[in-house]
Amino acid sequence: MKMASPTKYIFVTGGVTSSLGKGIISASLAKLLQSRGYSVTIQKLDPYINVDPGTLNPYEHGECFVTDDGAETDLDLGHYERFLNVPTSQANNVTTGRIYQYVINKEREGAYLGKTVQVIPHITDEIKRRIQLLGKTGIYEFVITEIGGTVGDIESLPYVEAVRQLKWEMGEDCLVIHLTLIPYLAASGELKTKPTQHSVKMLLEYGVQPDILVCRTEHELSKELKNKIALFCNVSPGAVIESIDASTIYDVPLLMAEEELDKVVLNKLRMPIHTHPDLTHWKEFLYRLKHPKQEVKIGLIGKYVELKDAYKSIAEAFIHAGAHNECEVKIVWIHSEHITSGNVAKKLEGLKGILVAPGFGERGIEGKIQAIKYARENKIPFFGICLGMQCAVIEFARNVLGFENAHSTEMNNKTPYPVIDLMLEQQKITDKGGTMRLGAYPCKIDKNSKVYKAYNREEISERHRHRYEFNNQYLEQFQSKGMIATGINPKGLVEIVEIPEHPWFIGVQFHPEYKSTVANPHPLFVSFIKAAIENKA
Ligand code: GLN
Repeated sequence: MKMASPTKYIFVTGGVTSSLGKGIISASLAKLLQSRGYSVTIQKLDPYINVDPGTLNPYEHGECFVTDDGAETDLDLGHYERFLNVPTSQANNVTTGRIYQYVINKEREGAYLGKTVQVIPHITDEIKRRIQLLGKTGIYEFVITEIGGTVGDIESLPYVEAVRQLKWEMGEDCLVIHLTLIPYLAASGELKTKPTQHSVKMLLEYGVQPDILVCRTEHELSKELKNKIALFCNVSPGAVIESIDASTIYDVPLLMAEEELDKVVLNKLRMPIHTHPDLTHWKEFLYRLKHPKQEVKIGLIGKYVELKDAYKSIAEAFIHAGAHNECEVKIVWIHSEHITSGNVAKKLEGLKGILVAPGFGERGIEGKIQAIKYARENKIPFFGICLGMQCAVIEFARNVLGFENAHSTEMNNKTPYPVIDLMLEQQKITDKGGTMRLGAYPCKIDKNSKVYKAYNREEISERHRHRYEFNNQYLEQFQSKGMIATGINPKGLVEIVEIPEHPWFIGVQFHPEYKSTVANPHPLFVSFIKAAIENKA
C-alpha cells in the first residue's frame, strides 16, 4: 500500500476574474492550519516570463517584496509572512521565466542530450519539482501553492497541467481549492452562479476537478445556492465556502474559520482535527485594530501613490503599528511630484508624521526633499525608508551643511557633493536583474539613540534592496552638524541616520516594512506612530 506522504499539497487556483484575493485566502487557510499546530508554508507560482518581479515597474505589479535570502518576489509573499509570522524564501516564489531559464540552461549543459525539450514533460516536471522543494525540506506538513493568474489564461496552462499530474500521482495527499466570483446583479437582485460553473468547466477540461470552491461574494450565499453550485460543479455541498467581502483582510481567517474551510481541508486530506484553532492573539490584534482610541494622519510621500499596492508592506506595517498603539493610522497619500517649496506647507498641513517612501530615479525627488525640509524644520516626526533616507541625507547636505547641489549620483553623477554614491561592489555590475544589494544584512545600533530605544537591541538584521549608499567621506561633517549615523553595518555602511535634536527624525537604508507582521509589528513603525501621537504641533 502506498504510504501517505508526510507533506500535504494544497493548490489554490482562481477563476472568473483576477484580484479575487487568492493570496489572502491562501494566507488565511495557512493561518488556520498553523493555529491548530500544523507547520505550513505558502508558495506563489507566477505565470509571467520575467525571472522575478525585481525589474518590473510598480505600476505593473505593485510592490516588489524582498525575503531574508534576497529574493525579489511577488507582494503576496508579504501577506504570507504578515499572517504566518514565518519568513519566506526564494523557493516560495517561482515564475515561468525562472522555470524556463533553468530548463534552457540544463539543455545547454547537455542534460537532455538527444531529446526534444518540451513543455510536457520538461517544463511541467520542473514546475512539479519546484512545488515539492518546500515539502522535501521536511519542515512543513502543508505546502499551499497559489497559482497566479486565472484558469484559462494561456500562460497558466503548464501550471494547471502540473497540478493535474500531481493530483494523479499523489491522490488524496493533494487537493485543489478554486476561488471564483459569484457576481450580484443589482437590477435583478440576484447572485449568479453561471460564471463559477463555466470556470469549473474550464478546469475540468484541463483534467482538474476542484475539491473545494471558495466563492467571493458581496452577499451571503443561501443554502440553496451553495447546493446548486455543489451540484453543477461536482463538489460536496460542505465544500462550497462563502467568502464574503470583509472590511479588513485580517478578518478573513476568522470568516474562513466560521465557514470551516480548515476543517473541510483537513477532512479531505484525512488529517486529524483534534485541536481547536488558537487565534487568541489574532483576535486581540483585530480588537485593537477595530477599537482605536484615537487617530493620526500620516503623510506617505511617493511617486506611485495612485497605486496603493506599490507601497503594500508600508501600509500594512502602519496597520500593525497603529493597532499596537490603539490608534487608527490614516495614510494621506501625497504625490512627490506635486510638492514644491511654494505649496509644501499647504500639502503637509495637519499631518502628525511624514514618511518618505523608497524608490528609484529622478522623478519626484525634489518634492521629497521639500517634504523632508519641512518635517525637519517644523519638528514633525519623519521616517525615511531607503530612497527616503537618502533624500534626508541630501536635504541635510544642501540646507544645513550648505553643500549646494548635493545629490545622489543616481540622479546626478556630476554633483559636486555626491553625499549618496554607488556602492563599490555595484560599480562593475551592468545587468539589472537581481543584482542590487538584496536581502538581510546585520547592523549594529548605537546605544545612545532613538532607534535603540525602539528596538531595545544592539544587533539587528534587516532587509535591503538598493545600489547606492551614504558616502562615508562626508560622515564627520554630517555628525558635527547634528545628523548622526546610529546604525552601521559591520562593513562600515551607514544603515541608519538620526537627528537627535529633532523629536523623531530617522532614516533607514533598509526596508523595515518587509518584516512587520501581525504577531510582531515592526519596532520602528511602532515608535514612529507613538511619536506621531505625541506630536502636538
Ligand atoms: N534608488 C536607491 C538605491 O538604489 C534607493 C532604492 C530603494 O529605495 N529601494 O540605492
